[in-house]
Amino acid sequence: MSDAETLFERIIAGEIPSDKVYEDATTYAFRDIAPQARVHVLVVPKKRYRNIGELAAADPRLLADVALAARKVAEIEGIAESGYRVVFNTDGDAGQTVFHVHAHVLGGEQLGHFGR
Ligand code: AMP
Repeated sequence: MSDAETLFERIIAGEIPSDKVYEDATTYAFRDIAPQARVHVLVVPKKRYRNIGELAAADPRLLADVALAARKVAEIEGIAESGYRVVFNTDGDAGQTVFHVHAHVLGGEQLGHFGR
């Protein structure tokens, strides 16, 4: 991977503004700028990996941190009981645009089923 900073590293560093929902030692969560549901929050590990597979292989503890931060976000947003979706877009066909792994936490309404 190139050493060039990704958008999310600049957001985590505070160089680009974001609407923060949650932060801990290893993760940072903020509202998606183009929400696809009433609640749409991105959870990003502060250390950069390209995608969920690379993260899981290199640092499974950090992947668990991302999952726990997603649950924390759901609690903060009041959707932990009603249910929510966690999505990791991975490369081309999934439409990944920022190559710094991130979980989309989606909810706050009945979500459509998967598909095209
Ligand atoms: P993905 O397509 O899975 O890589 O997700 C990238 C997400 O980042 C998209 O849902 C974008 O709407 C979101 N996004 C891009 N720029 C920003 C930004 N400056 N602040 C918050 N979310 C952003």
